[in-house]
Amino acid sequence: MNLSVTAVGEIVWVLGIIAWYVIRYPFERRARRIPVVVNLRSTADRVGLVCAMIGLAVLPGLYVATGLPHWADYSAQAWKVLVGTICFIGSLWIFRRSHKDLAHNWSISLEIRQKHELVSTGLYSIIRHPMYTSFLLMAVAQAFLLFNWVAGLSGLIGFSILYVQRVGNEERMMLDKFGEDYIKYMKRTKRLIPFVY
Ligand code: SAH
Repeated sequence: MNLSVTAVGEIVWVLGIIAWYVIRYPFERRARRIPVVVNLRSTADRVGLVCAMIGLAVLPGLYVATGLPHWADYSAQAWKVLVGTICFIGSLWIFRRSHKDLAHNWSISLEIRQKHELVSTGLYSIIRHPMYTSFLLMAVAQAFLLFNWVAGLSGLIGFSILYVQRVGNEERMMLDKFGEDYIKYMKRTKRLIPFVY
């Protein structure tokens, strides 16, 4: 079998997406059983989530399935597939670790759950939003794995929309709930990239 570099990039992306869902599914199921005591799901947050889903899953999925849009194709290079694969593996590792660290405190949106605790251990001892770091890395992986301007870059755009509208609101919600403890936690951690931002 003689696979093109383009096809290898697409296969890695599809396998990565499947692994992403396999990691997420048990947490999603468990979360359904834990009551929510504060719900700050807004229309803006829903729009952010939909944009992230379109950018990280729908547009690249459509491209892998149909090759559309053809006009946005560019030539593939093997080193980019290698970089994309390494980024996707790193992203999945961070994604799994952050779910384990957050445990019963995880929500897909802005919510405080019953018996919510402030998690500041594991990855959360270095950065406040490791799950968003994993999305960012996944979007970078997508840009290296799919040789199409639309399918490659849509992940970075979708993630950015979700992140920009969410992160400030999420930190305000955590400040309301945990007060001084969260202020101290903010002082000793960065948001997304250890020691940088
Ligand atoms: N922003 C975090 C968590 C994403 S899940 C990350 O990127 O890793 C979103 C939910 O996680 C929010 O609704 C909030 O309730 C919860 N959360 C965020 N940071 C938390 C923390 N340090 N401890 C406990 N729960 C947290």
